[in-house]
Amino acid sequence: MSDCIFCKIAEGEIPSEIVYQDDKIVVFKDASPQAPVHVLMVPRKHIASLDDLSEEDSELIAYMMQSIKKIAASQGLGNGYRVIINTGEEGQQTVKHLHIHILGGRKFTWPPG
Ligand code: AMP
Ligand code: ZN
Repeated sequence: MSDCIFCKIAEGEIPSEIVYQDDKIVVFKDASPQAPVHVLMVPRKHIASLDDLSEEDSELIAYMMQSIKKIAASQGLGNGYRVIINTGEEGQQTVKHLHIHILGGRKFTWPPG
């Protein structure tokens, strides 16, 4: 998607602090961190949200989930972390390219706001 900010980050057209990347995913620091560690994992493929996943994305989404623990470990989150996927309007999704928030480095509360 030509006007998608996370596609542009994944393609290196917009600068970001990338902490991990491979042929399927890019992980970069959130520009407005809500915890000492706050990174976003995005697929290189443009998928707007969880609502837009199709059967053919099953392997990709499994790969993303399996990669979270590796990213968390590399960020020093041995004591736990929180994973969030905001979806749609009431889920407060602001960027319409699927992204997984990985947050850590402090103790979180429940329920979320
Ligand atoms: P969400 O509200 O779940 O859609 O999350 C979007 C996230 O993207 C927010 O936490 C923003 O701080 C973050 N964000 C927006 N633009 C950028 C950017 N250019 N680089 C890094 N993070 C960004
Ligand atoms: Zn995109």
